[in-house]
Amino acid sequence: MQKEPEQTTQAEPEIEQMSFSDLGLPDAVLRSLKQLGYETPSPIQAKAIPTVLDGKNIIGQAQTGTGKTAAFALPILANIDLKQTSPQALVLAPTRELAIQVAEAFQVYARYMKNFHVLPIYGGADMRGQLRSLSRGAHVVVGTPGRLLDHLRRKSLKLDQLKTVVLDEADEMLRMGFIDDVDTILAETPDTRQTALFSATMPDRIRQIAKRHVSDPVLIKIAAKTTTVDTIDQSFVIVNQGDKLDALTRYLETQETEGIIIFVRTREATVTVAEKLSARGYSAGAINGDISQPMREKTIARLKKGSLDLLVATDVAARGIDVERVSHVINYDIPYDSEAYVHRIGRTGRAGRLGKALLFVQPRERRLLGIIEKDTKQKLKAWEKPTAQQLADQRKTKLAEDLAARIDNTVPDIYHKMVIDLCAALEQPAEQIAAALLSDKFPLEQIAPPPESKKPRRERDDSRGERGNSRERGNRRDSNDRDSRGRDGGRERSPRRDRGDKNAIPFEQYRIEAGRDHGAQAKDIVGALANEAGLDREHIGRIELNGDHSIVGLPPGMPKDIYQLLQKVRVKGQPMQLSRTGNAEGNRDAEPRKKPSTRKPRSDSSRSGNDERSDKKPRHKKSDFDGDKRKAKKPAKRKPETEG
Ligand code: AMP
Repeated sequence: MQKEPEQTTQAEPEIEQMSFSDLGLPDAVLRSLKQLGYETPSPIQAKAIPTVLDGKNIIGQAQTGTGKTAAFALPILANIDLKQTSPQALVLAPTRELAIQVAEAFQVYARYMKNFHVLPIYGGADMRGQLRSLSRGAHVVVGTPGRLLDHLRRKSLKLDQLKTVVLDEADEMLRMGFIDDVDTILAETPDTRQTALFSATMPDRIRQIAKRHVSDPVLIKIAAKTTTVDTIDQSFVIVNQGDKLDALTRYLETQETEGIIIFVRTREATVTVAEKLSARGYSAGAINGDISQPMREKTIARLKKGSLDLLVATDVAARGIDVERVSHVINYDIPYDSEAYVHRIGRTGRAGRLGKALLFVQPRERRLLGIIEKDTKQKLKAWEKPTAQQLADQRKTKLAEDLAARIDNTVPDIYHKMVIDLCAALEQPAEQIAAALLSDKFPLEQIAPPPESKKPRRERDDSRGERGNSRERGNRRDSNDRDSRGRDGGRERSPRRDRGDKNAIPFEQYRIEAGRDHGAQAKDIVGALANEAGLDREHIGRIELNGDHSIVGLPPGMPKDIYQLLQKVRVKGQPMQLSRTGNAEGNRDAEPRKKPSTRKPRSDSSRSGNDERSDKKPRHKKSDFDGDKRKAKKPAKRKPETEG
């Protein structure tokens, strides 16, 4: 008979004050958290870390965005015996992408744990490479159920030394049809193991699994504070991480603003976002837990006085700020829970004034938005990001209004005389003089912007800070993300065709000197490109397999070093000898870009093996090669309304 789960559902105030060093984590881990700029544990972390460190089993009801990965990864790292190389922790993840993200998170948190190895194991990747990596040993294995089961059957994965098992996104496992595999894997793990199960929802089947495999669990569910705030007009926008700054500046331009508080998650982000806003002409400052109290107070005083308009802050640093002129709160990074949301937006709408709050939600965080709406018992309005053309029209309207007001107030005669003198001196009509003055005030792109692409932007998160670009990928639940044993049964497909968005990125065609005659299949080519060039599957276009060669679509602007690297990479023993066919859909860069984009070589432990890979080769940052030139565009500098 199982005991009733011990429930810890209150988000007590002291949790907010807690720091990571109160949680009993080792120095090496604390050091990396400090470096990452994490100020305080999120509620799920504050509850889960001490409980897991205590050796207890937990069931955590938490969604993406709550900080659940660190909630299990940090205490697991604290308990790792680095001398023992057989797996001590196993994390089961529903998708290949989530497995990679979680493995990357472990790697980052374990930055100062010398010789620590984490190994992602997922379907679709080269088996021989995984076998080799497994035989070299790993302290933590993160994998998708199907492939883990394959390794268990082959006896290449031994779980007898396992101390902890984590079931991440259990409801997703169920949704994707992996739950029986999970059941089988859990049955093969030692009875003595500790188990942590995380799920956003708790359907019956997950409860059954929990009942069977998670004995005496501590149930961790962060209670929601449901205070409604009716003096605040609240809205949200779904936006990718890399588009947030643009969305923010467009939002600010459409609003009548006074003081604005922008909430971000890390100390680093306070500084970088404030810097970027300053570079765009806003008067912005940052406060975070690293900045001394007197300095923070000084900055807040400037916000109060109006010599500063935008304050970028972490939750800790902004606690208790009471500044009447705060007209807007921007949740640049989504808060961990509803309570933090209510607390944040409460910085506006003070002293009987009306305030506005905007919440940025990354596509993968939609669930958290739902929770906030449910807990605060209200629907947030969707804010539509204005197009560049709408902004331009608005600027013109505003200019007309401003001029009308100015003309009404009579412009001093001296200016009329100046115009007359200029017309005479330059022998130009007044219209020319006015046009020249306006062109100085408004850069061309602000008044006549180039048409914006109507192509749907892929849902991606391209600046997930320390975890690199892959965080978002893990939450795209499309068929390609599935484990090879998922509902698709591991069918080999061309990723682009499957996604049905083949127009999203223009591709250039490349010839590879390996084809059917060499036994090459599309998956071998995808594997080699993914592992060597660091390309996402969705950045690999249609693959045409011919007898002695294949044709593959790749994003434009391939950096030269990757191009050279891909000459030698082998597919079925054949060097690729990549060459451009000259056929391209869309963009045609004449030659590969000169500037190499280098990614820090990943440590051996976090790689998936591709058999043909040489361990010494450099790895390349995906974002640098995904041809996302939209981000590279320098936004126009303008003098926003918030100034002056
Ligand atoms: P997760 O819910 O695990 O997907 O994490 C969501 C995001 O929050 C990730 O980008 C983490 O790096 C970030 N994060 C997690 N915990 C913290 C923390 N205590 N402080 C700041 N950022 C965090």
